[in-house]
Amino acid sequence: MAGLDRCRACSAKLIEGPDVQRQGASERFSVKVDGIPTKVCPSGCDVSYWYWPDFGVEVLDALTRSTGGVARRRLGFRKTRHLCRQCGTELEDHGDRGTFLAKGRLRKGSDLNISIEAPCLTCPGCGAKSMPAQTSTHDPYYVELASLLGETVSEGLDRG
Ligand SMILES: [Zn+2]
Ligand SMILES: [Zn+2]
Repeated sequence: MAGLDRCRACSAKLIEGPDVQRQGASERFSVKVDGIPTKVCPSGCDVSYWYWPDFGVEVLDALTRSTGGVARRRLGFRKTRHLCRQCGTELEDHGDRGTFLAKGRLRKGSDLNISIEAPCLTCPGCGAKSMPAQTSTHDPYYVELASLLGETVSEGLDRG
């Protein structure tokens, strides 16, 4: 935690700052993150800091724990199948985009809300839209999303 205890400019002990909102976009995604906690300098240095040095990990945890908008994964014979969480039908790629919400309770007790506008799969049975299930740790869809989220929550904030 040492990195975020003191202001880098004047060494004053940091105090709790306001929660902030950030948005960002990449090739496939646009995201909005609400409720990003900050620390600020009591002496008025014009810099805000991440609340924890590993705040980025909490953001990704919030994403992976919120699976409501994500397809159910079934390992098939040759490839992963993506199934509708509502009705179990195999999802199809119609080139659609949708908006998905992920929410996480942060260690400090407040909520982080992530809104993701993303390419998605569509259910031919009930019409529900889902983000694809993550197929591996190298799944390029989730690598891009994680990297965009990391950049978005770092913007204008010193990570300590
Ligand atoms: Zn300062
Ligand atoms: Zn369905």
